[in-house]
Amino acid sequence: MTELLGPHAVQTSQAQLKEASVDRFKKYTAVHGIFDGPIPAAIVYPGSTAEVAAVLRFAEENLVNVVPRTGGTATEGGLETVVEDSVVVDGSRMNAVTSIDPVDMMATAQCGVRLAELEDMLRPRGLTTGHSPQSKPLAQMGGLVATRSIGQFSTLYGGIEDMVVGLEAVFPGGKVTRIKNVPRRAAGPDIRHVVIGSEGALCFITEVTVKLFRYQPEHNRYFGFLVDRFADGIAALRELITAGYRPSVCRVYSPEDARQHFAGFYRGKNVVVLVAEGPKRIADATAEAIEELFAGRRHERVDSGLIQHWFENLNWGQDRIDAEKADMLTNARLGYTTEVSVDWSRTSDLFDAVMSRIRSEFPRAADLTMLGAHSSHSYQTGTNLYFVYDYTINCSPREEIEVYHKPLNAIIVTEALRAGGSMVHHHGIGKYRTPWVRQEHGSAFYLLSTLKHAFDAKGVMNAGTIFPLEPS
Ligand SMILES: Cc1cc2nc3c(=O)[nH]c(=O)nc-3n(C[C@H](O)[C@H](O)[C@H](O)COP(=O)(O)OP(=O)(O)OC[C@H]3O[C@@H](n4cnc5c(N)ncnc54)[C@H](O)[C@@H]3O)c2cc1C
Repeated sequence: MTELLGPHAVQTSQAQLKEASVDRFKKYTAVHGIFDGPIPAAIVYPGSTAEVAAVLRFAEENLVNVVPRTGGTATEGGLETVVEDSVVVDGSRMNAVTSIDPVDMMATAQCGVRLAELEDMLRPRGLTTGHSPQSKPLAQMGGLVATRSIGQFSTLYGGIEDMVVGLEAVFPGGKVTRIKNVPRRAAGPDIRHVVIGSEGALCFITEVTVKLFRYQPEHNRYFGFLVDRFADGIAALRELITAGYRPSVCRVYSPEDARQHFAGFYRGKNVVVLVAEGPKRIADATAEAIEELFAGRRHERVDSGLIQHWFENLNWGQDRIDAEKADMLTNARLGYTTEVSVDWSRTSDLFDAVMSRIRSEFPRAADLTMLGAHSSHSYQTGTNLYFVYDYTINCSPREEIEVYHKPLNAIIVTEALRAGGSMVHHHGIGKYRTPWVRQEHGSAFYLLSTLKHAFDAKGVMNAGTIFPLEPS
């Protein structure tokens, strides 16, 4: 690697290699300095597409497993190096915004551009990508596309798959591929979707072009309502969305989840949060529809200033990650999430089934200090449920994942599949939801596995991600 990229682009310090062997799925073991899995041989920092191509060519020729990385905020094991002598290919030095085009309304950025940095360049020009995941301060363009990420304003702007116009990626063996920027085309299947959501298991994304929208927060209108039952909140969201309105934010929090966000005013109830956004006349019309919808329902109104304040402090930067680490060490507790999606008609049943199974079947239920959920991304046909759970750890740090995280995750995933939904809404499959990938896709798994065999015949891209690791 040093011969290919030069010494300045290769990192082999033991401390950094250990950190690079895991992601946030193993945040509790990592904070205790436990790194049991294979440690990568090196982290390399290519500075150009040509250098990425050189690394991928070398990797294929020498059967070296490559784990692509950008912002490092992955939560499902996508960054874990599960085979010996892997090389982590970190795109964060490829961090140029190469164009901002206010006429054709697109921006092009290399994979290592942090989304927050791109937004900071766009907003003074009255533009935005419309993408706002909670990890916006840290996540970078390559990872955001590779995971099929979604942001807080998704009901209006969509997920990343609705934003990507074109991109450049390097495939195994060093094959550079550019998917050109066009408004739409009918020239065969949409090949952007081979790359979007591929989680580093098919290719390395080097550059991304995304759509731009007008940034006009002065028209935003914030709403909060307290409702008695979670199902009442879901019904309100469904009515609004299926009537054709597109509030940028459209959420309902169960009381347990609401307590950690809205302790000052939730009063033991479910909290519905909505934001009307866009050109003034559209924002006003959406706001009017929200007012009308709730006028006909049993609810209490929340001061809109409180909702706006909450939104403005929702994102996670490095300071919150560090605070979480300190808290894990001091208090032996942590919180995780599992996000799934399901049709409207089954949403409340799925919520009830997960709550009841965890409370009755999970052997360590007494250690749960919080178990709740919210719906935060809605569609014409259904919504997502984002289950959240906090627990006190009454076992050794090394056992935490097997004793707590995996069994809780498994109940949520299996219930989502049983309800006919998807086992993963936006964090990706990573390495820890692979046991259910065949069940998720059914007879269509053939399409997915054919992509892997066709593009990565030698199996050198992020082994164990999306596709279960084959026994050697
Ligand atoms: C506090 C917090 C809040 C979060 N909030 C959200 C949220 O609101 N919405 C959401 O969707 N997600 C969220 N996430 C999850 C995570 O931020 C997203 O998955 C994000 O898209 C990952 O981007 P990244 O640059 O950090 O990628 P990384 O963590 O570096 O990598 C993620 C995956 O993508 C692959 N990958 C990375 N770069 C490339 C590349 N250049 N080419 C090919 N594959 C690549 C990796 O191999 C890995 O499998 C959150 C995570 C945290 C920690």
